[in-house]
Amino acid sequence: MPPLISHRRLLEPRSLADALKMLRDEGPLLPMAGCTDLYVSLNFGTLKETRFLNLWRLAALRTIEVRGDVLAIGALATHTDLVRSPLVRTRVPMLAAAAREIGGVQIQNRGTIGGNVANASPAGDTLPVLAAADAVVVLKRAGVTRRVPFTAFYTGYRETVRRPDELIVALEVPAIRGRQGFRKVGTRAAQAISKVVMATAVGDRPRIALGSVGPTVLRAMRTEAALAAGASIEEAQQTLIAEIAPIDDIRSTAEYRRRVAANLLALFWNGAASR
Ligand SMILES: Cc1cc2nc3c(=O)[nH]c(=O)nc-3n(C[C@H](O)[C@H](O)[C@H](O)COP(=O)(O)OP(=O)(O)OC[C@H]3O[C@@H](n4cnc5c(N)ncnc54)[C@H](O)[C@@H]3O)c2cc1C
Repeated sequence: MPPLISHRRLLEPRSLADALKMLRDEGPLLPMAGCTDLYVSLNFGTLKETRFLNLWRLAALRTIEVRGDVLAIGALATHTDLVRSPLVRTRVPMLAAAAREIGGVQIQNRGTIGGNVANASPAGDTLPVLAAADAVVVLKRAGVTRRVPFTAFYTGYRETVRRPDELIVALEVPAIRGRQGFRKVGTRAAQAISKVVMATAVGDRPRIALGSVGPTVLRAMRTEAALAAGASIEEAQQTLIAEIAPIDDIRSTAEYRRRVAANLLALFWNGAASR
């Protein structure tokens, strides 16, 4: 039986400093951003937490700006913000492409990049992009900021290195040279959870990341190394098939996912899937 709504408590910080203080002094609190993931579990009665920290009004976490040599994307930037941002569209077009395919317009207007990353679903569509981009997750707790490489952020199925008293405040994306690509394969074009999702950056070295083919987002290092060493695309496809660990589930079969992943790799490598 889910807790009654009257037994839930919502804290409303006015600033990031306030929010971090509340997490330190009044925790445990579950951060709440656009609430598009949280509301689903609330509705299903699987959300056991009763104390929440509403981040939605913290406008300082919604900025998208160039800081030094990285693009700093505030955790509260919505998918619509990503699609509309000229900085994202020019520097990380694969991220704009991913955001454009998340849910429908309503979800894009509320869902945030920080929520997508923190939610840690292996099917999260921005995750392969951030992995292929060599992004960095910026985490803050009262008095402490730390930066974690995106590829080290996930430790297992829906597990991350984020401490309960930390917030994701930004994703930092370094400049990416060369062609970028994003492709999501789902049951239909909109409102579909990915069966396979792939992002690639093919510049001075190939960078390939996939979602929905294992317990966490996967950077396909062995496949990248094979391509960098001059393997044929057919050889690289075999490497990729061996490197991923998809499962049969309600959305697809492991075999289908392997074949689609290999096909997408060839599309990207031949330049046909870049957007
Ligand atoms: C109908 C529907 C369609 C969807 N389609 C897609 C899709 O196509 N692709 C896709 O990837 N996702 C999809 N989603 C999932 C969801 O919309 C995204 O994951 C979204 O980005 C979540 O962001 P949010 O701000 O709503 O997160 P919330 O629901 O507010 O939070 C999600 C989790 O992240 C934590 N959190 C949020 N922000 C922070 C922060 N700054 N620091 C630390 N922890 C934080 C929360 O505590 C919670 O555990 C869909 C959801 C629905 C309901």
